[in-house]
Amino acid sequence: MDMLQVIFLGTGGIMPTRERNVPAVALRYKGEVILFDVGEGTIRQMNTAKLSPMKVEKIFITHFHGDHYLGLGGLIQTMNLWNREKPLHIYGPKYTFEFVQNFINSGFFRPVFDIHVHELGETRLKFGDYEIWSFKVEHGIPALGYVFKEKDKRGKFLPEKLKQYGLKPGPMLGKLEREGQIEWNGRIIRLEDVTGPRRRGVKIVYTGDTEPAERVRLFSERADLLIHDATYLSDEDRGDSYHSTVKEACETAKSSKVKLLALFHRAFRYTYDEYLREASKICREFGVNFVVPRDFDVLTYKSGEWQLQSLLEGGR
Ligand SMILES: [Zn+2]
Ligand SMILES: [Zn+2]
Repeated sequence: MDMLQVIFLGTGGIMPTRERNVPAVALRYKGEVILFDVGEGTIRQMNTAKLSPMKVEKIFITHFHGDHYLGLGGLIQTMNLWNREKPLHIYGPKYTFEFVQNFINSGFFRPVFDIHVHELGETRLKFGDYEIWSFKVEHGIPALGYVFKEKDKRGKFLPEKLKQYGLKPGPMLGKLEREGQIEWNGRIIRLEDVTGPRRRGVKIVYTGDTEPAERVRLFSERADLLIHDATYLSDEDRGDSYHSTVKEACETAKSSKVKLLALFHRAFRYTYDEYLREASKICREFGVNFVVPRDFDVLTYKSGEWQLQSLLEGGR
């Protein structure tokens, strides 16, 4: 099975602290690195995580608050320095074109590669083996959340069925897989006749900044991983900003039957230990399976399960 990894490059909200950087999440899938948000200092975080910016072809920005996009300039200029030739695609909400343009036109700098900007509403983008869906969240300004959805895969070949139809591994099976049906021994055999149930592709949701919203619940339905804004530990801590508390993130995870919730965009006022302690209590009350990722933590998806590790030497 192809490995899929979610690498947390920056997990804090609003402004960077000694302990954590501002949002950036890298998804590694089949040799490609997809970036969701590029907070200030993302290039440094990528260097530490040994992720090459040259492998990034797509960047998805949730919204244009500084903590989610100010790293874009450094990232693009580094790509330039390394004589990038491959085009770069930048996706985001309304005004992305204007804001990216401003960035590119600042300083003594001209990109040597093509940059394509795509402004999205609620859009379903299809790429090879996966799709990216954007959906509107509630943050007081144009802001999007994103879904990474791997295509569903065919069921496994069933040896007893293959035997029954007189099929053996080889070109005929390849043809059946490609075309969905073949004529064999005077009869039509369909792929479903000789394979088990289809396997659901992995689904990952990244909300960016949002207060609890019906769209988020809808798009998070049965996600394998939900990376949710959980800026505050309690209602008392909350200003009048458009963010979520841990409890609200848990409510969404629970009602959407999410497999694993990652509490993200934690306010800079909390230390990690304090946040983990309080958040754990709340998540346990809800019976929600959760993680509180730190910078350079990696979630690896293998045989239907998530494993959390740190990329830093010796772990933590
Ligand atoms: Zn933010
Ligand atoms: Zn924001």
